[in-house]
Order: sequence, then C-alpha cells, then structure tokens
Amino acid sequence: MRVLITGGAGFIGSHYARTMLAGGYPGCADARVTVLDQLTYAGDTRSLPMDHPRLRFVHGDVCDPALLRRVVPGHDAVVHCAAESHADRPMNGSAEFIRTNILGTHTLLEACRVHRVGPVVVVSTDEVYGPVGQSRRGEGHPPLPDSPYSASKAAGDLVALAYARTHGLDVRVTRGCDTYGPYQHVEQPIPAEVTGLLGGAPPPAPGGDRDPREWVHVDDHCRAVHLVLTRGRAGGVYNVGGGTVLDRARLARILAGLCGGVPGPARSVEDGPGGPGADRGRALDDRRIRAELGFRNLVPFAWGIAETVHWYRSNPGWWEPLLRESVL
Ligand code: NAD
Repeated sequence: MRVLITGGAGFIGSHYARTMLAGGYPGCADARVTVLDQLTYAGDTRSLPMDHPRLRFVHGDVCDPALLRRVVPGHDAVVHCAAESHADRPMNGSAEFIRTNILGTHTLLEACRVHRVGPVVVVSTDEVYGPVGQSRRGEGHPPLPDSPYSASKAAGDLVALAYARTHGLDVRVTRGCDTYGPYQHVEQPIPAEVTGLLGGAPPPAPGGDRDPREWVHVDDHCRAVHLVLTRGRAGGVYNVGGGTVLDRARLARILAGLCGGVPGPARSVEDGPGGPGADRGRALDDRRIRAELGFRNLVPFAWGIAETVHWYRSNPGWWEPLLRESVL
C-alpha cells in the first residue's frame, strides 16, 4: 500500500506516519508513506523518521494543483491532515484558515478525482458541531461552527462529502475531539501549560468551570483514522471521541499535579474502557465508529496524560526552540 499523508509533519499526521512506518497497523507493515507538508510553524521534520527507507518527504503546499498533479498519482490511499489548526493564533484576518482548510482540501480532492486515487480520509474535527453543549452530538447534528477555524473545517468537510456524492470519489470523514500526546506544538493548550509548568511558571489561576473539552489520545485518534481508512464506508462520517470531558480549571489542576508541585487529581479521572465512569465523560456521540468498525479507546486519560507530561519533561530539546519562536 502507498499512503499519502498531507500535513504529515504536524502533530496527528506525524504520529500516524511514525506508527505506520513502525509496523503499528496490522496489514500495513510494508506500506510506503509519502508526507506532503508545507512546514508552516506547526510542521516539523524532527517529528518524522526522515531517513526511513519507506518514507518520502515532499515539501509543498496542498493548495498547489500542479504539485498535487505530480504527487497524488500512484497512491492507494490518502489521509488528509494538512490544515491551519490553531484557532487562537493571530492570523492574517483568518485568510490562512480559509485558504488551507477549504481551498487546500478542494485542491486535494480534485487531484484525487482526476487521478482516481482513494480512499481519502479527511481528518476533520468535532468543532464543526460548535461548542460542547448539553446534548451529545452525533454525526447527523447540523454543523454550527463558531470560529473561522471551525467554519473553514466544516466547509472543507462538506466539500469532501459533496465529492463523494457528486463525483463518486471514495471519501470518508472523521470528526475527532481535542487530541493530546507527544510532539504537539507548544502553542496548543496542553503543551503550552505543561512546558510553562516545567519551566517553572506558576500554575494558572483557577478559571472556574468553563470551556469543557473532550480529550482523546493521539494514538487512539490515529487508530480510529486508520480503521476508517481500511474498514469505513465510502461517503461515511465518523465521530472520534475520547471519553474524558474536562473544563480548563480541572485540566489545569491535573497538569499542575503531574508537573510537580500541586498534588493533582489525575488519579480520580474516570475514563477509558470499562472504567467506572466510562461513559460519563462523552460530549460526542461516537457510537457509530464503535458499532460499525469496532473502535475502542485504548489509552485511558490518566495514563495518557501522565505519559505525555513525561515526554515533554524528557524532550526539552524538541520543544524549547519552538517556545522561543512562539508568537503567543
Ligand atoms: P498541526 O497544526 O499540528 O499540523 C498541521 C500540519 O499541516 C503541519 O505540519 C503544517 O505544516 C501542515 N500544513 C499547513 N498548511 C499546509 C499547506 N497549505 N500545505 C501543506 N501542509 C500544510 O495540526 P494537527 O493537530 O496535527 O491536526 C491535523 C488535522 O486534524 C487537522 O485537519 C485538524 O483540523 C484535525 N484535528 C485536530 C485536532 C487536535 O486537537 N489537534 C482534533 C481534531 C481534528
């Protein structure tokens, strides 16, 4: 199998590429991987095994139709992760979101249509449904994006589904919740807090019960994407949940506890398969991927977040240069 991963030098795409090249996906031990990435502030070749014999790296823009005409043919599958994904970064009037997340997705789909390449998994986000509310949001929930980022992702995701219906292109969409794990850029919420705490910053002041998010470990997210790629339905949409909903204040207490100093309540987080609160912390309705494809979360939050903090503690050489360049 020859797999093209756009945005494969970013957080989720590089985890998917590393896992595939390491033989972590059954049946794909010999897969050849092409990573196409523009290496924006969020892309980093240090997240990839660049000298791996089955990895080809192409430095380029997913919005460039001539480049895609050269790169796309010859692949058996595409995982589309390239995106402007940082909702809080100062942007050029949101133009980057619109360009990469809509135009880039369209340019890729068009190349796949012309060259008959598929399946294509478009890695979208639960943010297309709008903020976490009272009801669990299933795949049939209308898109109600509330930021330029989520609106651009919703548009790209809907264009992808339109390509499935109009052109018969084999496209599948995943809508994952907030994702955490190693190699995530320091401007994202969990790494920002962890690297600050590890550098000696005081824990952030408790902010009350606000901005609840559902969290999934990157390894679970990528396994879900791979399941959708190998066993999903053409034209299908699959939510990917994590089973742990935390507001900012609770998350901050957990991270402060893990980074030393304040005793955190990480042990009391109830989540994961079979845990006492296994279903209490779901904001997304992810029953479809569980029922249809047999997906299960394998990384309990308490374990995954401790392992993530340990990774940042052990790899300052990876994140300190990013912190120095950060614009936030
Ligand atoms: P990321 O910002 O870490 O990585 C994005 C990658 O895309 C970077 O390597 C960047 O260089 C590359 N890129 C940006 N513009 C490009 C362009 N024009 N051409 C080619 N490459 C370009 O993002 P991530 O967290 O890995 O997210 C990957 C995908 O998953 C995104 O589509 C995002 O919307 C989605 N997603 C992310 C999360 C999350 O919490 N991180 C949750 C759900 C869905």
